[in-house]
Amino acid sequence: YQRLRLLLGDQLNEQHSWFATVNEDTVYALFECHAEATYCEHHIQKITGFFLAMRAFADRLRELGHQVIYRTLDETRAAKLERITDCVDHLAKDLGVTAFEYLLPDEYRLDVELKEYAEKVGGVACDTEHFMSARDDLAQLFEGKQTYLMERFYREMRKRNNVLMDANGEPATGQWNYDQENRGTLPKDISFPAASVFDRDASHIAELIDRHDIQTMGRMKDNRFTYPVTRTECLEALDDFCTNRLQFFGTYQDAMTVHDPLLYHANLSFAMNTKLLTPREVIDAAVAAYQADPEAITFNQVEGFVRQIIGWREYMRGVYWAQMPEFEHVNSLEHDLSLPRWYWTGETKMNCLSHAVNQSLDLAYAHHIQRLMITGNFALILGAHPDDVDAWYLGVYIDAIQWVEITNTRGMSQRADGGLIATKPYCSSANYINKMSDYCKSCHYDHKQRTGDRACPFNSLYWDFLDRHRERFEGNFRMKMMYKAWERKGSEEQTAILERAAWVKANREAL
Ligand code: FAD
Ligand code: SF4
Repeated sequence: YQRLRLLLGDQLNEQHSWFATVNEDTVYALFECHAEATYCEHHIQKITGFFLAMRAFADRLRELGHQVIYRTLDETRAAKLERITDCVDHLAKDLGVTAFEYLLPDEYRLDVELKEYAEKVGGVACDTEHFMSARDDLAQLFEGKQTYLMERFYREMRKRNNVLMDANGEPATGQWNYDQENRGTLPKDISFPAASVFDRDASHIAELIDRHDIQTMGRMKDNRFTYPVTRTECLEALDDFCTNRLQFFGTYQDAMTVHDPLLYHANLSFAMNTKLLTPREVIDAAVAAYQADPEAITFNQVEGFVRQIIGWREYMRGVYWAQMPEFEHVNSLEHDLSLPRWYWTGETKMNCLSHAVNQSLDLAYAHHIQRLMITGNFALILGAHPDDVDAWYLGVYIDAIQWVEITNTRGMSQRADGGLIATKPYCSSANYINKMSDYCKSCHYDHKQRTGDRACPFNSLYWDFLDRHRERFEGNFRMKMMYKAWERKGSEEQTAILERAAWVKANREAL
């Protein structure tokens, strides 16, 4: 071989121009390496998912006629190769190749590591051809701005990519935003369609992880793994979403229930983050489903979905590249409490948290509003250190890759970025949770009480959060009403609430 091309575990895009022709001189390399499996404590299903998808991708490339070298964790460890670049360097020397190429990583850490290595050996970086915006599009759009308004970025993306636009370059229905229609609460008799599962035995990966003493979190029941790991499976999952769940996606995107972990969400983040599916084909499929049956799938459903992908997803990537590496250390609210251990065990009497955490540990999945308004909200109003919160989110979800995890966690959810992403913190009392879910009905705590042994911890923590950050948020026009409500409580009630909050914080491990 003359040329070695590296593929990372989240670069499994068989439609990339690299694969348009078969070249006998070129070898593609994929490595399971220890540094990647241990840079945080990953969910066991996350490591399993990446290794299975990488192995299947190597087989697929061979099927297409390409030359592939795949090194398992057993092999890279036996050769004492810890990091990606150690693996690349070893193989390049072994094969005597003269050219090295890699695809631009989405992780800052790997970007630096590979750039340094490429400079040393004269390697070349190529685009992943996955995203619909360039790394620095967002930075250019918001140059000199204190806040990056997602809505502005999203409209720009709709225009630029001609998605749901009319012939005059205006939004197809004359309206950009359907958020008001997308906050529905679940009717009593609604059913949840079963989503396709791709059940396979993953004992061999569980044993591999065990053999190398890799610390993991979460659970994988009976070593069965159910996420799609090949492109064919991912396309089937996309079709299943468009056929069975897209019709209610927008309306109930903020709803939560004890009866179903997925509701009408897509569960396509792993498929997209590994690049087995492109964002363009995902939104094209959703728009086509809407166009084929606009009576069943109303516009607000498809617009809500498109917004998540060409809006939030591309936007977060832009924020990441505009703000790294400093973003990894921001803590503008100066929060410093440890996150309770029950985030890792699920053992809490708070029903909403018990559901959101146990579901995350069982499935490596929680939908957006569980992440933002249950686990994230609690950590925020508690005052947990963003490092702890990041460690949990980066580990627990199958889709957790730093570019999209840290921006959502430290930025959107924990507001450690000083308000770059959100104009107002995503904090709430039990009132919101009770409105949007059925969690409170069967909870040990009383969602109406603010003080007393059975008072819902969210209530006192919520007011405590507002009170301790009064200077910062009082002037925020979107929060004026909240501060007025706090004033109206009078000093006696305020003191009782703050005392209860202090107790909750001190006893957070036992809630
Ligand atoms: P759906 O609700 O069906 O949405 C469809 C797609 O839109 C998702 O697959 C995803 O690709 C995209 N999307 C939706 N919201 C966002 C968002 N806020 N940012 C980026 N993309 C979005 N997403 C990750 O992919 N990886 C993460 O590590 C991650 N960490 C998060 C941490 C916190 C604290 C929060 C609040 C959100 C996080 N998200 C993350 C965003 C979002 O919650 C997940 O993308 C989503 O829950 C994945 O499930 P789904 O495919 O069913 O999503
Ligand atoms: Fe969660 Fe409080 Fe409701 Fe219990 S009462 S489910 S802790 S919001």
